Amino acid sequence: MRTQELKEEIARLKAEKKAVILAHNYQLPLVQDVADFLGDSLELAKRVRKLRDRKIIVFCGVYFMAETARIINPDKKVIIPDREAGCALAEGLRPEELVRLKQQHPEAKVVCYVNSSAEIKALSDYCCTSANAVEVVEGLRGEEIIFVPDINLGRFVAWRLKRKIVLPASNCYVHHRFLLRDVQKARRLYPRAKIVVHPESPLEVIEASDYALSTSGMLKLAAESSEGEFVIGTEISMLYRLRKEFPRKKFYALKPGAICEGMKKITLAKLYEALTLLKEEVRLKPVLIERARRPLERMLES
Ligand code: SF4
Repeated sequence: MRTQELKEEIARLKAEKKAVILAHNYQLPLVQDVADFLGDSLELAKRVRKLRDRKIIVFCGVYFMAETARIINPDKKVIIPDREAGCALAEGLRPEELVRLKQQHPEAKVVCYVNSSAEIKALSDYCCTSANAVEVVEGLRGEEIIFVPDINLGRFVAWRLKRKIVLPASNCYVHHRFLLRDVQKARRLYPRAKIVVHPESPLEVIEASDYALSTSGMLKLAAESSEGEFVIGTEISMLYRLRKEFPRKKFYALKPGAICEGMKKITLAKLYEALTLLKEEVRLKPVLIERARRPLERMLES
């Protein structure tokens, strides 16, 4: 099928099956274009809660995001177009490792970044996003903190709060590959641009940049800032959304090769197939949903 035909068929199937398509900001442009809603994982999962008339969620993103949508929308069927769309960061920390850390630090509170598996969330006390990680840890004054799974986001939080935090060794390879020299090169190439990086980047990259923001924070900055040029240090497809929504502003990639392989597994053809067959459904044990929902609910209520 040609691209236009695929788009029309996706729109027809979506209406027929009363489904809603959610797509993460790192999805391929063609997938972003057919989505009902774009955003980061949490924005998307929260948004669906309000859609009482849609029983089927097709989540175009990596697997932990579809899991999160399922956990906070237990009455809805959640479909992911490719079960193999994985996140290296979420998969980089095994539950046994967190259990061991908890045994070594029995009094510590566990704060997990939303980019984690349902099993890790179920072992955690609090959940956070890259947008509110600093605030969540700041609210736990006087407590020893284990922050999982991203060592870079954890280091960023520790740096901002000047606190010691217990950290595992997992990272997001897309952001971990950003180097100080990438920032220095961008300053030379685009002297008028503000440099904005994701807090999953290494600390020396964050320190050398102008802003460390989540993808929702980057959109807000582009909307509200009087600046007209930005160097963006995150997954490459974020630039598609920024350029589309702010055509008068200029956005440059900090590193054009910053591509998340898991995100790119979702294609228009797989999305069409998922809507046709209503597969792959995300299935989780009720006890896991129950445990993983507690830290998520705390975050949603805060
Ligand atoms: S960009 Fe990094 S954190 Fe985001 S889904 Fe890909 S591997 Fe995971």
